[in-house]
Amino acid sequence: MIETAAIVLHAFDYRETSRIVRLATRESGVVSAIAKGSRRPKSRFGQGLDLFTSGTALLVLHPSRDLHTLAGFDASRARPALAHSLIRFGAAAALAEICLRFGTEATAGVHDALAAGFDRVAASADEEVAAATLAAAWRIVGELGFAPSLDNCALCHRELRPEEEVRFSHRSGGAVCATCRTLVPGARSLPSSARATLMEWIAGSEVPLHDGPTARAHQRLLREFLEEHLGDGRAFPAFQSWERLDP
Ligand SMILES: [Zn+2]
Repeated sequence: MIETAAIVLHAFDYRETSRIVRLATRESGVVSAIAKGSRRPKSRFGQGLDLFTSGTALLVLHPSRDLHTLAGFDASRARPALAHSLIRFGAAAALAEICLRFGTEATAGVHDALAAGFDRVAASADEEVAAATLAAAWRIVGELGFAPSLDNCALCHRELRPEEEVRFSHRSGGAVCATCRTLVPGARSLPSSARATLMEWIAGSEVPLHDGPTARAHQRLLREFLEEHLGDGRAFPAFQSWERLDP
């Protein structure tokens, strides 16, 4: 039995009285667990198993199985604001999808970046959601150890000047200098301002975005990066839904 900070990423009803949840835990990464009896009127889980809720989970881990047992969940932060706007809900679902996809590779840093990201998105006006979500997503990518190379060329490793116009090559894992770009045809142009923003986001800073086209370009860059490095060829349907909603 372990006690760990956890966030509800996914939840669905199982049989008459139970729920199965997927949790981003601080101690054990993403786990699936059954909350037996959680839909009974006087369940000890109360309303705690709502989507995107943070709390303390009491988990019985079964080493040989993929489905563990949730013995208790003490909710500490429910974040109902994420459900009150379609754009915020879509953004939270996109962040949850990134964590779900990483499965057990998730770490305490991922849990904390996700919790902070959910809080930030919950507190954002609709027009601020894209920047808050992109910042959280890149922070999570960084915590997972997949941060792209941005201050050095991903191929020749030459240091890039802040104002240098470079390309972004998903396959190469980041920024590519003018000399190396011929080796990666099709790499996207990455303006110096966009590169600076990415570096700030990965470092955990907030950088607002001031127009829709910039936000859309950043969404597309992140989705392509996720598909290349983490998607195993699978699409990110929640992320794509969010892109269609916002901005
Ligand atoms: Zn180079």
